Amino acid sequence: MRDATRCVHRPDVSTEGFESLAVPTYRASTVVYPDGRSFARRKERGPDGYAYGLYGTPTTRTLEAQITALHNGARTHLVPSGLAAVTVPMLALLAPGDEVLIPDAVYGPVRAFCADYLAPRGIGHRVYHPLVGAGIADLIADRTRLVWIESPGSGSMEVQDLPAIASAAKMRGVLVGCDNTWASPLLCKPLDLGADIVAEALTKYVGGHSDLLMGAITVRDMDLRARIRDVLRLAGIGVSPDEAALALRGIETMAVRLRHVGAVAERLAHRLREHPAVAQVLHPAIPDCPGHAQWQRDFRGASGVFSVVLRAEAATRLEDALGRLSVFAIGASWGGTRSLIAPLSLRAERSLAGETLLNGPVVRISVGVEDEDELRDDLLVVLDAVLAGHEPG
Ligand SMILES: *Cc1c(COP(=O)(O)O)cnc(C)c1O
Repeated sequence: MRDATRCVHRPDVSTEGFESLAVPTYRASTVVYPDGRSFARRKERGPDGYAYGLYGTPTTRTLEAQITALHNGARTHLVPSGLAAVTVPMLALLAPGDEVLIPDAVYGPVRAFCADYLAPRGIGHRVYHPLVGAGIADLIADRTRLVWIESPGSGSMEVQDLPAIASAAKMRGVLVGCDNTWASPLLCKPLDLGADIVAEALTKYVGGHSDLLMGAITVRDMDLRARIRDVLRLAGIGVSPDEAALALRGIETMAVRLRHVGAVAERLAHRLREHPAVAQVLHPAIPDCPGHAQWQRDFRGASGVFSVVLRAEAATRLEDALGRLSVFAIGASWGGTRSLIAPLSLRAERSLAGETLLNGPVVRISVGVEDEDELRDDLLVVLDAVLAGHEPG
């Protein structure tokens, strides 16, 4: 063998005895075959065989298997973002003439996907109230193929009655998908509650460090799985093993992180309720949060994200007041180690929400792992500043 060949034909090195705790990052486009016969028969390797890097590597399959196990599912598919985890099932299940029902508090870009991508292609959507519960039965039409759930809702935190919606949908032969990003499989298992599909942004609590984008779609039914896999295969959608490796690292500490941020967030939520600048704190553990009873029944706790509705008068002062933050960062997305605050404009994104929510400015808070007292003081400085603007003189 000459040197140029030797540079690409690596010698075999034994891996025997090397039992590492880390999952190796297998980077690959090409998968090679031991002989011509197995290459010719590569399509017979079945859905779990390896044929091409785009369709899975041992690294991505390990993450998929881990999420599947956490959800008591049958299979998981990784996609490049949490948004894709919602849109890919819709692409897989909806054809022209069909319709999807989405909750008013759905993750904003999903509403845009329905309006600006699906609608021009003849696929309808209707928006329903997140607290509709069994009343969804009255909204299901002959053309309805999918009911989408997101619980709690983005920004407004309504906890939906998933079991009631799922059983009503099932009676009509309609599938149910659920965006479970807020809870992660540690705090809620939608497949156990009757959903057919779970979508999650691994970008948030699984990644856990604000440094990757990824989504997961988990199902129990293998036919459903095939329909979702076909979209990914035909459209050429896959994820990087490097990012899957980051997610595999993140998921190891997820239980500890979630327990911590959940406890801190709940204490902060109670403290903020007492502040005169606050109209309402939307945290599922607080009894006046819409869907509190469903949360108590269906969830094993709360994560670190909640919303605060400020008094309407705060609107003009909020932007300036946020400039006083020194521990929180200002930004969208969430679920990392840094605490984040995001002022939301829900008015533009809601068709069915009540007045409290729409009149006051809403800020979403994602609790990270900084010192709890410093986080609380940081928020109180902002709330005091919002209020100070309204004192006479
Ligand atoms: C962030 C988020 C998404 C989208 O995740 P990306 O990875 O940022 O695309 C979807 N659903 C919910 C509920 C989210 O919070």
